[in-house]
Amino acid sequence: MVIVMKPGANAKDVDYVVRRARSLGLKTHLSAQNGHTLIGLTGDLKGLNPNVLTGLRGVECVRPMSRPFQLASKEFRPEPTTVTVRDVVIGGSEVVMMAGPCSVETPESMMKTAQGVKEAGARLFRGGAFKPRSSPYSFQGLAEEGLRILADIRAETGMPIVTEVLSSEHVPLVAKYADVLQIGTRNMQNYMLLHAAGETKMPVLLKRGMMSTIEEFLLSAEYILSHGNPNVLLCERGIRTFETYTRNSLDINSVPLLKELSHLPVIVDPSHATGKRSLVNAVSKAAIAAGADGLIIEVHHDPERAWSDAFQTISVKQFAELTEQVGVIAGAVGRGAASHHETAGVR
Ligand code: PEP
Ligand code: MN
Repeated sequence: MVIVMKPGANAKDVDYVVRRARSLGLKTHLSAQNGHTLIGLTGDLKGLNPNVLTGLRGVECVRPMSRPFQLASKEFRPEPTTVTVRDVVIGGSEVVMMAGPCSVETPESMMKTAQGVKEAGARLFRGGAFKPRSSPYSFQGLAEEGLRILADIRAETGMPIVTEVLSSEHVPLVAKYADVLQIGTRNMQNYMLLHAAGETKMPVLLKRGMMSTIEEFLLSAEYILSHGNPNVLLCERGIRTFETYTRNSLDINSVPLLKELSHLPVIVDPSHATGKRSLVNAVSKAAIAAGADGLIIEVHHDPERAWSDAFQTISVKQFAELTEQVGVIAGAVGRGAASHHETAGVR
């Protein structure tokens, strides 16, 4: 439910309404639209009589929300949200490229890839130190050693770090090193983890569950938001379909649909969506054309030899070509692009 305040309502009016709503056991969340303060209400709304609030000074109306997700909804926050990671703004006019290998490997290998992707226009560096592998016999990641390598990459290149956290117990450790906490597809509905990530107030890249609906996806985002963390990036990474020639199927519909339903930035991961190096370029461009705010791409200086997800990992050279082309597509859909000339060496 949202309380819409009159344009003339002052801070005292808003404060009084907030206190009144809280006295009813509800949580309040402030936002604004065209000069109106909006007060989002969450909690147990069953049995709430809106008339208790409509009569208060400064209140224009009380609107029910049409979807089960509330804070993630455009009805609560009509303007797009931007998430700032150090000096990088995500969800603004510029399309943001995040790149790096699937897993953190040796420091030398990481540095080589990091310098390459930075030169090519990447703004954030990705790499997993804790890997959620389908087989318990596959490489599971370098754990804290991997996080330390990522921190060194940041110190050397200035690129903020995106890295996955697998469990709520690991949140404090990963948060110590990361700039963006990645929650993977397998954990999208791990509610304890969502809660813990919400408590950090850090930027969270939430990947869509491979078998989740858009509503389930936005309700998972809602868990993070409702724990007081507004810094959520939604990441479409493909869903499971009957197709076997690709690893997943990119749900391209989700990009404009998420934009229609939510104010949160939308990132697309063409690497996991396709599982095929040869498809990453075309699918990346489609995602930007559809309105994505950024891409997260698996890149390696020697992709064939990547320790995980080698099939879908592109080379630094292919990434450089891709950023150039993404720049053109971004321009065609009215976005600026983090093109390589604008960013190389600047940050
Ligand atoms: C990854 O980013 O390497 C990863 C494991 O992603 P997902 O959770 O989308 O499979
Ligand atoms: Mn991967």
